[in-house]
Amino acid sequence: MNHYRLLINGKLTSTTDSFAVVNPASGEVFAQAPECSEQQLDQAVGSAQQAFPQWGQDHNKRKAALMDMANAIQQQSKKIAEVLTLEQGKPLKHATREVMASALQIQFAANTELPLEVLQDTDDGRIELHHKPYGVVAAITPWNFPVSIAMGKVATALIAGNTVVLKPSPYTPLSTLLVGEAIQSALPPGVLNIISGSDPLGACLTIHPLVRKIDFTGSVNTGKQVARAASDDLKRVTLELGGNDAAIVLEDVQPKEIANKLFWGAFTNSGQVCIAIKRAYVHESIYPQLVSELSLLAKKYPVGDGMNEQTALGPINNQAQFERVSSLVEDAKQHGAKIETGGAPTGQGFGYQSTIMTEVNDEMSIVCEEQFGPVLPILTYTDLDDAIARANHTHFGLGGSVWSPNLERASDVARRLQCGTAWVNQHLALSPVAPFGGSKWSGIGYINGRWGYEGATELQVVNIKR
Ligand code: NDP
Repeated sequence: MNHYRLLINGKLTSTTDSFAVVNPASGEVFAQAPECSEQQLDQAVGSAQQAFPQWGQDHNKRKAALMDMANAIQQQSKKIAEVLTLEQGKPLKHATREVMASALQIQFAANTELPLEVLQDTDDGRIELHHKPYGVVAAITPWNFPVSIAMGKVATALIAGNTVVLKPSPYTPLSTLLVGEAIQSALPPGVLNIISGSDPLGACLTIHPLVRKIDFTGSVNTGKQVARAASDDLKRVTLELGGNDAAIVLEDVQPKEIANKLFWGAFTNSGQVCIAIKRAYVHESIYPQLVSELSLLAKKYPVGDGMNEQTALGPINNQAQFERVSSLVEDAKQHGAKIETGGAPTGQGFGYQSTIMTEVNDEMSIVCEEQFGPVLPILTYTDLDDAIARANHTHFGLGGSVWSPNLERASDVARRLQCGTAWVNQHLALSPVAPFGGSKWSGIGYINGRWGYEGATELQVVNIKR
């Protein structure tokens, strides 16, 4: 069995205690992860603080180190992807894609720069605008895309000149720790520290006095706790939180043509995607046809162990989430929802059948809460304004999509959705050239490109009198 270790001050570090990591495909413990002690948390943050002044000096050196880091991850991608599948559940080919995409994210971030701007240059003086790193950034990640979410945060913070302490979810700590092993010699000691541990390690990290910024991805509830914890010390925060994305399907689509894209917009990673379609509003004229196309697809793609090549969709990641999804489906059934297909566990680990549900309404918890699982409730509408109002009637505001061959009309509707990203005829598509973030309760701040870089820095004005 692999002996997983923390990365502190450039050294792979063992711990006295450990905690169990479960393979969701079987529901059985398959490995132990290191439990970071309070003292080790201090060492990790302290070493990040010590490494900061030097790391902040030279953009070109940072860029080269990030390129080395991306290479190191690519070289170890097979090993990292296998462990990612074992702890997260996703099919191995998706895990491999996630790891390789992380290396690309790092390369993309390495090529981002915000040069100094001269705001005014006259006989009287000169005003310069600089982007300065914060110092130590705490990066806290969830269990659905442990490697890519972590690497996105880390690469952005590092290229901007910050140093980082990264804490993965205790459900999926191992792939992140393996990344630590892979990149150990690519970065100077202390620049990136990786610690794992169970509750309350995340909370302790957020109140550490040497942390200047928290970059958090997770649920709305935890995000609010993080914001509260940060407020005492006025630490800066970026919060990438939950969503309850609506897809609005207009009456002029061909159901057969869009069904596959809609299906994967909802069921990728077994629905455990912050920007998955979590409810669909379908015009009544095409509703029966689309429901039947989606049901066929839900039956077609096998749900199972991600290590099995035939598996298209993995299990739900953990027991608590499995129970939550199961109870939301039961609740909907009790309130009159009809299960078109699925609606039950597969009987293997935390596996849950891909579920298409109709005869639902906006008040049901499965519709108005973030279910974060392999379930798509399909609602119907007659009046488009009403559908838009219902899609927007939520505290969430992460993503949304509109489906129609009439691009002009669909774009008009997309602009009326209250969310950070509104797609037309697609969902989930993120681009490194566009900012990503949520409105309302779905988040504060943006990632990707120059917007991510701006979020990892604060402004300094240098005003020179001649
Ligand atoms: P959680 O909010 O439960 O946990 C996220 C991370 O926060 C974990 O590492 C967790 O560790 C840690 N944590 C928990 N409590 C605290 C605290 N008080 N202070 C600091 N850290 C804490 O989210 P999940 O892991 O369940 O992830 C699923 C959620 O993430 C969904 O809501 C999903 O929508 C959202 N998400 C958002 C994305 C976005 O970009 N907007 C992308 C991906 C997911 P521990 O469990 O040890 O407490």
